Amino acid sequence: MRTKIVAGNWKMNKTLSETEVLLTELVSKVPDTKAEVIVAPTFVNLSTTVNHLANSVVQVAAQNMHFATNGAFTGEISAAMLLDIGVKTVIIGHSERRSIFGETDDMLAKKVQTALDNKMRIIFCFGEELAERKHNKHFEVVESQLKNALFSLPVEAWSHIVLAYEPVWAIGTGETASPEQAQEMHAFIRKTIAKAFNQKVAEDVTILYGGSVKPNNAKEIFSKPDVDGGLIGGASLVADDFIAIIKAI
Ligand code: PEP
Repeated sequence: MRTKIVAGNWKMNKTLSETEVLLTELVSKVPDTKAEVIVAPTFVNLSTTVNHLANSVVQVAAQNMHFATNGAFTGEISAAMLLDIGVKTVIIGHSERRSIFGETDDMLAKKVQTALDNKMRIIFCFGEELAERKHNKHFEVVESQLKNALFSLPVEAWSHIVLAYEPVWAIGTGETASPEQAQEMHAFIRKTIAKAFNQKVAEDVTILYGGSVKPNNAKEIFSKPDVDGGLIGGASLVADDFIAIIKAI
């Protein structure tokens, strides 16, 4: 059985006090669910979040990290720093990191390797842009993003990897992939992984969908057989909306 996950990416939102308010509300309302629930606050609020959630089922992830162990990388955060404050999961390859901060497949492959070297869990994001879908290149693009960052890894690495398919045209736009489009891509991803590794790896890997998941569309998207949950941006900043999405899994 694959693990179901609902993860909230809070991006560059919420001050420390606002984070505490949101966490308090989340903890008091989080439903009893078999799905894992994860939140990814901004770096400066990670420590407080870890402490706040110490007795809760809600887990914590970082939104990014650097691939180097330490050194002259002004503004960056290392795996050791995250582990030291109790953060064992990291989002790698979010489309905003790729498009705004110029992160390439090559850099992402290095980040993945560093996370694995540190026994961290990775939520690896990828997905095509609108023009690529319009030109029917979405399968090709997704396959190459996966191949470049993940397909040189050993089979054992996959127990540390969660995938998040996030079509760029659906992130923060209010436009969602239809449940059928999400299912079609998730099935393709599984088939591609089965070819590159084996059927078991493909069957066992959790594949999240991300892109304007809201309380009113979550149930239909999550009902698809190859969709194992969601990576939620905007809606995860509102406790009641995030809780409604968790209940939809
Ligand atoms: C995201 O940033 O990962 C995301 C899916 O955002 P939103 O839900 O706001 O589209």
